[in-house]
Amino acid sequence: MYDVIIVGAGLVGLGTANALQERYPHLRLLILDKENGVAAHQSGHNSNVVHSGIYYSPGSLKARLAKQGNRTIYDFCQQHGLYYDRCGKVIVATQLKELPLLENIYQRGLQNGLEVHRLSQKQLKEREPYVNGLEAILVPDAGIVNYPEIAAKLAEIIQSRGGDIHYQQQVQYIQEKSQHVEVRTQQSSYQAKWLVNCAGLHSDRIAKLAGYETGMKIVPFRGEYYVLDNSKNYLVNHLIYPVPNPDFPFLGVHFTRMYNGKRDVGPNAVLAFKREGYRKTDFNSLDLADVLTYKGFWKIATRYFCEGMAEMRRSFSRQLFTDNARQLIPALRPDDITPGPAGVRAQALTADGKLVDDFHFVKGRRSLHVCNAPSPAATASMEIGREIVNLHLQNILG
Ligand SMILES: Cc1cc2nc3c(=O)[nH]c(=O)nc-3n(C[C@H](O)[C@H](O)[C@H](O)COP(=O)(O)OP(=O)(O)OC[C@H]3O[C@@H](n4cnc5c(N)ncnc54)[C@H](O)[C@@H]3O)c2cc1C
Repeated sequence: MYDVIIVGAGLVGLGTANALQERYPHLRLLILDKENGVAAHQSGHNSNVVHSGIYYSPGSLKARLAKQGNRTIYDFCQQHGLYYDRCGKVIVATQLKELPLLENIYQRGLQNGLEVHRLSQKQLKEREPYVNGLEAILVPDAGIVNYPEIAAKLAEIIQSRGGDIHYQQQVQYIQEKSQHVEVRTQQSSYQAKWLVNCAGLHSDRIAKLAGYETGMKIVPFRGEYYVLDNSKNYLVNHLIYPVPNPDFPFLGVHFTRMYNGKRDVGPNAVLAFKREGYRKTDFNSLDLADVLTYKGFWKIATRYFCEGMAEMRRSFSRQLFTDNARQLIPALRPDDITPGPAGVRAQALTADGKLVDDFHFVKGRRSLHVCNAPSPAATASMEIGREIVNLHLQNILG
C-alpha cells in the first residue's frame, strides 16, 4: 500500500513527487509511467524555454506559477550543476497593427511584477542586428535549460529519498474505494490512499478511468521545429518571439537558442492525428475519432479555419514556413534550416469550443487530476507540484 501513486513521469508528475517528499519525508510514493524513462513526451519534446510569466492574465495560476517557477528552475539547475542560460528574450512587433498588442504585453509584464524593458527599433538592432522590428520588449529573466536533464535529476532525487518509479506500466484501470484507490496496469496491481493524475496527453482518459467527466477533452497539437545551420547562428542572440495572436494559446514561430549551441526555429501548430504522433504520417484511429466526434473541436475548427489551414500548408512547405519566420529575420533562407524534432501539446478543450487557458485541476474522492498543463508548465512544474500539495492534498495527507 502506497500513500500516493502519481501517473506520469513528466515534469509535472516529477514536480509533484518532489513537492510531496519535501512536505512529507516519510511518504510511500510511487510514480507509474508507460514509457521506458522520464520526460518521454511533452517534457522531452519542447522548446526548453524558461518562461517569465509575461503573457498570462494577472491573477491566473499561469502568471503566478510561471513567475515563481522561473526562479525555482534556475535555482535547481544552479544547485545541481545543470545547464542553464538566462539569455533573455525579445518579443518583437513587426507590423504597426501589433504595436497596441505589444503594449498590452508590456503592461501585463508590469502587472505580473516582472522586469520588462521597452526597446526602440535602434535598441533592438543593437541587440539583434538581423531582426526586423518596429519595437520590442526585452524580458531578461527568460532563458534556456535542458528539461530532460532536469527531469532525470528530479527522478534521481525522488528515488534517493525512497520514492519508487516503475516504468513500462500503462495504467488501465482505476477504482476509488472508501479507504484506498486501486490501480492496475497490464502486469501489476497497486493500492494507494491517493492518486494524482499527471498523464499529460492522456490526462482526460485517466480522469475518465477514475470515473470523472471533466467537461473537457485533450486535443493534441503537433509543433514542428527546424534547426538553423550552425553557420547562421549569428542571426540569433536571444530568444526571439513574435507578438502572439491573443486569441490563440500558442506563441507563434520563434527562434530559440538551445542548450547544445544550436538554434531552433518553430514550432508551428497543426492538429496531430495521434496523441503522441511526432511524424506527419503518424495516425491513430482512436485518437482521431476522439477529436472528430467532439463537438468542441468543430467549434474551434470553424472559428480558426483560416489559421488552421495556413498552419497545415506551412507544415508541408519549407518555403512557406521560412516566409513566416522571415517576418522576424528577413535574411533567413529556406536552405538555412533543416527539419528538426517535433512535440505534441496537450491542450484541453471544452465541449462548447473553448481552449482552456489556465492550469486546471479536478479533485475526485481519492484522486486529483491535472486536466490542463500546457506551456509554461515545464517552467512552472515544480511550483505546480507545490500548488497541488498545498491546496489539494494537505488536508488529506495530514
Ligand atoms: C512543442 C512544445 C513546446 C513547448 N515549449 C515549452 C517551453 O519552452 N517552456 C515551457 O515551460 N513549456 C513548454 N511546453 C509545455 C511543456 O512541455 C508541458 O506543459 C509540460 O512538459 C507538461 O508536463 P506533463 O508532465 O504534464 O506532461 P508529459 O511530459 O507529457 O508527461 C505525461 C506522462 O504521462 C505518461 N502517461 C500517459 N498516460 C499514461 C498511462 N495510461 N499510464 C502511465 N503513464 C502514462 C506519459 O508517458 C508521460 O511520460 C511545450 C510543449 C510542447 C509540446
